[in-house]
Amino acid sequence: EKAEIGLIGLGTMGAALASNIADNGFRVAVWNRTTEVTRKFHADSDEEDLAEQIVPTESLEDLVAAVAEPRAIILMVPAGDPVDQQIAALRPLLGPDDMIIDAGNANFHDTNRRARDAGDLPYLGIGVSGGEEGARFGPSIMGGGKREYWDRVAHILRAIAADHQGEACATWMGEEGAGHFVKAVHNGIEYADMQMIAEVYGMMRDGLGMDAAAIGDIFGRWNDGVLQSYLIEISGKVAKAVDPESGQPMLEVIVDAAGQKGTGRWTAIEAQHLAAPIPAIEAAVVARNLSSRRDERAAGEALFGPAPERIAKDLPMEMLEGALIAGKILCYAQGFAMISAASKQFGWDLPLPEIAKVWRAGCIIRSTMLDDMAWALGEDPNRNLMFAGYFADHLKTHHRALRRVVSLAARNGIAMPALASGLAYFDTMRTARGTANMIQGQRDFFGAHGFERFDGRSGQHGPWGRG
Ligand code: NDP
Repeated sequence: EKAEIGLIGLGTMGAALASNIADNGFRVAVWNRTTEVTRKFHADSDEEDLAEQIVPTESLEDLVAAVAEPRAIILMVPAGDPVDQQIAALRPLLGPDDMIIDAGNANFHDTNRRARDAGDLPYLGIGVSGGEEGARFGPSIMGGGKREYWDRVAHILRAIAADHQGEACATWMGEEGAGHFVKAVHNGIEYADMQMIAEVYGMMRDGLGMDAAAIGDIFGRWNDGVLQSYLIEISGKVAKAVDPESGQPMLEVIVDAAGQKGTGRWTAIEAQHLAAPIPAIEAAVVARNLSSRRDERAAGEALFGPAPERIAKDLPMEMLEGALIAGKILCYAQGFAMISAASKQFGWDLPLPEIAKVWRAGCIIRSTMLDDMAWALGEDPNRNLMFAGYFADHLKTHHRALRRVVSLAARNGIAMPALASGLAYFDTMRTARGTANMIQGQRDFFGAHGFERFDGRSGQHGPWGRG
């Protein structure tokens, strides 16, 4: 009996995805560059009673022969050259109706190119979020490519995806790299959400002198409220965990230098190309980069004195929670506004409410708030979320808390780049008369760029006396 789908690359994600496919009753043929990995995977799958649904193969030819026509074969290999290499090796073995699906974290520009290079040969790029656990038990899947290609495999992708109250978290986003683009913005938002939580943790640890377990309790409590989310939940668990070796809180053992695979950076770079303001996400990318510079930071502390300092007065936890609520809304508002800008720029017609929905389960940024975002974007996908009723109400209530927390942090030398940039974004977006008149004056002074006047005339120059 032939397999309904094939999969290449039995690493962390590929193995979990193949098991998930098999677990949902689909026969899946698998191949891995290192054969030993395939054998071990198949042997291990016996423990989960999945071995019968999995067809191990030891050459690409055997893989192709094992899959029913028209074929669909998923690639789960590292993004970049390995994907191009696999496509080059696989395509000559496939028929004109056979489909290649790149399920890794491809840069969407690469997916655009590969979809174009494929011509009439079916190609899909799908973003898969949720880490290993998600891939095994239900990820969030963002699809890109021709709709008819998506429809051919949607029944499998929906079956393996996370379920949110009966709705599968697997959605077609648009042509070419649309799915990988949406996945990249997801990761950018993820960076900012994580960074804001880390900043609030920093306030509790350094500003208030709370120990890790107490901080864990606070996150645990917040997880019952507006902030309910996977990231708050795991932050609580991380804070409470104890190192079995030293008996110390894990947070005292883990080095303060964050890694990254680059998807947040892509989002920041793309946002600049689109002229889409996502300062909270950019701040989070910068914060990760700075976190790696531990020696420089140590030298800075030696030179400029101890920072951060304890804050003198008490800071109610509700205030900190309110600041995080406001920060989170502003960060997501920026992310969705960027998706809206890309949708117009690339002619993709990205389904914003559906994007909020597909993120409600399975992925790292899943949260209760996304339910409300889906609803607000359904009302008007082109309105910045900060202006949507429910979120505007939250911001009216909580922007003072954000202001208080950010100013306390500034006064005490506690770095809060993402929350502070969220506040600056908020203040900019609620200031009808800004300060760019000065910029225009400067530009006209040195470059004769001209400016518009409030009386409606344009193409004017100032009396700068430059001869
Ligand atoms: P792993 O490193 O665990 O596995 C990589 C797999 O790709 C291995 O099976 C490896 O085979 C194979 N491989 C590596 N290089 C090549 C190559 N040049 N040609 C053919 N096969 C190759 O990676 P992950 O499973 O973590 O990641 C896979 C993709 O999924 C990446 O794009 C990643 O960004 C993305 N992703 C990862 C997530 C995660 O949480 N880990 C979450 C979401 C997406 P071999 O055994 O021979 O080395």
